Amino acid sequence: MAETLENQALHNLGQIIDEKHDQNIVSLGMVKSINEDNGKIDCILEFNDIDQNRNDKIVADAKKTLEEIPGITKVNIVTTYHNVNNSVESNDLEISKDHNLGVSKIKYIIAVASGKGGVGKSTIAVNIASAFKSLGLKTCLLDADIYGPSIPKMINVNEKPISDGKTIETINRYGLSTMSMGYMVDNESPFVWRGPMVMKAINEMVDRVNWGRADIMVIDMPPGTGDIHLSLVKKLNISGSVIVSTPQDIALIDVIRGLKMFEKTEVPILGIVENMSYFLAPDTGKEYKLYGESKTDQIAEKYDYEILSRIPHDPLLLEQCDKGHPLTDLVPDHKVSKLFIEMAETIIKKLKLERLSETI
Ligand code: ADP
Repeated sequence: MAETLENQALHNLGQIIDEKHDQNIVSLGMVKSINEDNGKIDCILEFNDIDQNRNDKIVADAKKTLEEIPGITKVNIVTTYHNVNNSVESNDLEISKDHNLGVSKIKYIIAVASGKGGVGKSTIAVNIASAFKSLGLKTCLLDADIYGPSIPKMINVNEKPISDGKTIETINRYGLSTMSMGYMVDNESPFVWRGPMVMKAINEMVDRVNWGRADIMVIDMPPGTGDIHLSLVKKLNISGSVIVSTPQDIALIDVIRGLKMFEKTEVPILGIVENMSYFLAPDTGKEYKLYGESKTDQIAEKYDYEILSRIPHDPLLLEQCDKGHPLTDLVPDHKVSKLFIEMAETIIKKLKLERLSETI
């Protein structure tokens, strides 16, 4: 039975023509997998370029035609992305020079990393980026946390970036030029990654995006210390990294791993941010330690790293992350925003960063 329904599904998908290639999506090899179970169909479609309008149309057509099959009660389409052009063609390099593609015109790139997820890495990345902007720097924000891109929600982006299929425009929010894999994929369907696709996706977000000229780029790295980190560090000339931790021991152990990874790749550690360091009572302004005594000082001293900032657990910071407007941009004179702005100033000093306008 399942086989019949799967055959029927494949037959129906074979009627969908990709107008770009004037061929059906089955013969183009876009249908990577199709599984039917109890009337529920899971289908993986693989695209080979980021042409959102075209991809959206194919997904919608596929969903429609699969739903029409008698006996099918639920259709789940997962999209993946795979660039068949492994090499950067010389043609592309020409475009790069002419159109400000890629990151070559960004003076400094800093990576915001953490040993594990959930410590507030994205929150810190977004607010540091806003702080740089508030200090007058032209700032870019790249969400490289492809496994769980949270930047789109944090800065309230629901639209897709404009692309002609070859180059992709950044989405500007709150004065930041931003890009996230979360912009490219459908929120509803999980994004399935195979190893080599990850770097290809990252390459797209770096090389094909019209980043233009900027003072600084803040990268929200994926949590942990995997291959993506090493590849990104090798690919981009990262000026320094900021490690985010919480006062809990377990996170600190991960942070040490993170620090070592960056040391190996010779990217200087700018310092550690201890997030959710304490709770700041909104009514009294009193500070409460949430996790007991922090071990961050010991670690920082042992490895000779600076603690760049201690950010409290703050209800408004959380609320604004959920609402999609970074606190540092919305209320620059809030106590927490001031901490981010101070931290940005410290980083600027460390990088000896001058404003773009002063140097070109
Ligand atoms: P990560 O990027 O490390 O996975 P996030 O930045 O997504 O972590 O943060 C996880 C959750 O914790 C989010 O809901 C975020 O709003 C919240 N959060 C992070 N830092 C703080 C903070 N200092 N105060 C209050 N909430 C925070």
